[in-house]
Amino acid sequence: KFRLRYAPSPTGFLHIGNTRTALMNYLFAKHYNGDFIVRIEDTDLERNVDGAIESQFENLNWLGINADESFLKPGDSKYGKYMQSQKFERYEQLANELISQKKAYRCFCTTEELEKDYEEQVTKGIIATKYSGKCAKLSELEIQSNLKSNKDFSIRFLVPETVLNIKDFIKGDITFDSKELGDFVILKTNKIATYNFAVVVDDFDMEISHVLRGEEHISNTPRQILIYQAFGWKTPEFGHMSLIVDSTGKKLSKRSGNALFFIEQYKNQGYLPEAMFNYISLLGWSPVGEKELLTKQELIAMFDDKRFSKSPSTFDMTKMKWINSQYMKALTEEQYLEFTKKFINKDEFNISLKTEEWLNQVLLLFKKELEFAEQINKHLSIFFKDMEISNETLEVLKSINENKKVIEEFKNQINDISNWEVESIKLLIKSVSEITNKKGKELFMPIRIAASNSEHGPSLADVIYLLGKEKVLANIAKIK
Ligand code: GLU
Repeated sequence: KFRLRYAPSPTGFLHIGNTRTALMNYLFAKHYNGDFIVRIEDTDLERNVDGAIESQFENLNWLGINADESFLKPGDSKYGKYMQSQKFERYEQLANELISQKKAYRCFCTTEELEKDYEEQVTKGIIATKYSGKCAKLSELEIQSNLKSNKDFSIRFLVPETVLNIKDFIKGDITFDSKELGDFVILKTNKIATYNFAVVVDDFDMEISHVLRGEEHISNTPRQILIYQAFGWKTPEFGHMSLIVDSTGKKLSKRSGNALFFIEQYKNQGYLPEAMFNYISLLGWSPVGEKELLTKQELIAMFDDKRFSKSPSTFDMTKMKWINSQYMKALTEEQYLEFTKKFINKDEFNISLKTEEWLNQVLLLFKKELEFAEQINKHLSIFFKDMEISNETLEVLKSINENKKVIEEFKNQINDISNWEVESIKLLIKSVSEITNKKGKELFMPIRIAASNSEHGPSLADVIYLLGKEKVLANIAKIK
């Protein structure tokens, strides 16, 4: 059975980059009827951020990336705990096991000694952060006396000389000479396992079949494979996804100009989770065929681990908005109204003064226009506010021949209208057209600007109807 995992460190909130990792692991697992696991990698205690774990789960659930197993919903007890901070004893015990097999050793070097060690390495032309292996040479007697005098120690993995041939199911074959690695720490002096050690123990304990993650982890893979080999454990398949970059080609981050980074930000602006799921699935992966609007079920069915891209993918905010607008259009009227109402700025627009029926009609006017729900607020002003006509709008009006004639006729007819209905307003506009002999822009623009004090908006007769006679007349009075 395929078992894949998303393993966030709770050092921050769910963002586009880690969502892509979670989502691809989810699709991969679900395509093969496997399990999708969320594990918390919180060994770096100082870097943990309050609320990060909650944010991760809340946003994953919102997107529909549901874990089959996590610390909230543990699987069989043989898989162990789903949070690394609850497994410190297990890591320590396994590190000691490696010591007894002479595959790891205690390193008693102090920080100062390590610095000196590195300096000596550099003068010998060896890369700075590579440990010389000094403590591997300590005699049993020296070790016992150090232990007796309670000297602090870390545990280092004894890197064997070997050449690894890694088959990455995205990047292809990678050859790695272990000479490039120094003996690295697996258990720090405070007895806490390092990431590279804990991740291997957990992936083994949880019977993870495929490790699918971002390419920033590629340099960790040789270290991890060496640990599997030291224990004689079966190595999972590895695949490293290419970077997600912003429109300037830099790695997508919270500083990426126009692109929002955190899932929470999209949620708060009124994006639909289904649309986000859809768009994020297309980052560095593509389905067969031209169709891009795909549901979660379709994506699960179409998933193919051979269709990851080797080159970076650009996060395109315009496309994200377009996909969201398509999902908004596809909502039923009822779904659309319920969703959009949550985003109305109630401090700015006093909707309680209006009827539900009226509000629904206003909101529905914009169903085809919104890219995300929060945009409704920029459209509501003409209905709720006493608009000031911008100079630009006045310029547009002035540029239209005989606009005064159209406005005058429109005003007279509106004054006299007997039944306030969309159909009668349509007839009224037609009659203004006939009397003034104007059509198209020369007819509609003066009426729109006079009636709504804005040059933009949806269907004119609907707007006039929903503004109400009183407001339309007040608006016309503002045109000099
Ligand atoms: N905890 C790691 C991170 O947040 C993930 C490690 C992995 O997937 O192996 O980047």
